[in-house]
Amino acid sequence: QCIMACPVGALHEKENIKDVWNAIADPDKYVVVQTAPAVRVALGEEFGMPVGSRVTGKMVSALRKLGFDKVFDTDFAADLTIMEEGTELLKRLESGENLPLMTSCCPGWVKFVEHFYPDMLDNLSTCKSPHQMEGALIKSYFAKKMDIDPAKITVVSIMPCVAKKFENQREELSSENLQDVDIVLTTRELAQMIKEAGIDFANLSDEEFDNPLGESTGAAVIFGATGGVAEAALRTVFEITAGKELEAIDYEVVRGTEGIKEATIELPNGKSINAAIAHGLANARKLLDMVKSGEKKIDFIEVMACPGGCVTGGGQPIIDAKTREVMDVKIERAKAIYDEDKSLPIRKSHKNPYIKQIYEEFLGEPNGHLSHELLHTHYQKRNRF
Ligand code: SF4
Repeated sequence: QCIMACPVGALHEKENIKDVWNAIADPDKYVVVQTAPAVRVALGEEFGMPVGSRVTGKMVSALRKLGFDKVFDTDFAADLTIMEEGTELLKRLESGENLPLMTSCCPGWVKFVEHFYPDMLDNLSTCKSPHQMEGALIKSYFAKKMDIDPAKITVVSIMPCVAKKFENQREELSSENLQDVDIVLTTRELAQMIKEAGIDFANLSDEEFDNPLGESTGAAVIFGATGGVAEAALRTVFEITAGKELEAIDYEVVRGTEGIKEATIELPNGKSINAAIAHGLANARKLLDMVKSGEKKIDFIEVMACPGGCVTGGGQPIIDAKTREVMDVKIERAKAIYDEDKSLPIRKSHKNPYIKQIYEEFLGEPNGHLSHELLHTHYQKRNRF
């Protein structure tokens, strides 16, 4: 398991279960929960289900039973990330500035760049990570829609990740003095809450996320596996450039567990994108060094700090050694992620009807003024030690 592989593995997992119980019990609080893509393919393991079981509907049902006022999906904001980051990529390709564009949804990777490659901070996408975007929208768009004082809203993120417990405390990830996300729980902590509440998880019936911030596409769910963000971005960038609907959207070339993957995607407008994907920070370092030395010319880089991506994040269920001897956990969970993608009726972020709606009703356009205020951030050089 990857607690040691997690870039902030040195920080011990800080338990926040009590904070969530207290918020739910407080009649003055409106408590909203959101769940990351990788949680739904691992949570079942805590209740005796096979590795890689998909439990999305049961997870939503359990969260309602725990007493959350709304159950939203971080995947909605993953779709939004594709709109914002895809636009950023197209603009940078046009201007030639700050290439390669590097993804910013993994806080372990972002902090690694801040410590070890501060000369490449401008290459990072300015997009906040999806759960931070979702939190910012819950406290602005959703609060306004529901006429709730944002100061009374508590946003809880269920994440496969312990680094997110650091990320949500970053000062620059708040708007109007309110943190985008108040509390981060890991998949294991959520399982603990479900057990404490005496919920018979395995026998729950499936329920749906709440809307408007719970609707998502197959492109969003694949964020949970290495290569997923790149594939989701390529689905949208390719189709927008083509100006027409495309059937072939499975970019097998960016999937799989090879340490560094590279692909050149020819766009319909005659241009091409050189994409590179790394997982695990040793691979990320190798890749960045090749880019800096000029050995590789890359336009778009996706990095996930955990081997295999978020499916094996430090907050996921711990698998015993015997089971690990007979299977590769990251492969089983990634398979579940791609099955979930295939099962969804919409598989491209820009086709999510609620994404279209939020731009029409509230945000205006991708990379517009309000998007910059709520959905984008900046980074800082940090000392190595
Ligand atoms: Fe967290 Fe995912 Fe990054 Fe691992 S890969 S540190 S789980 S965001």
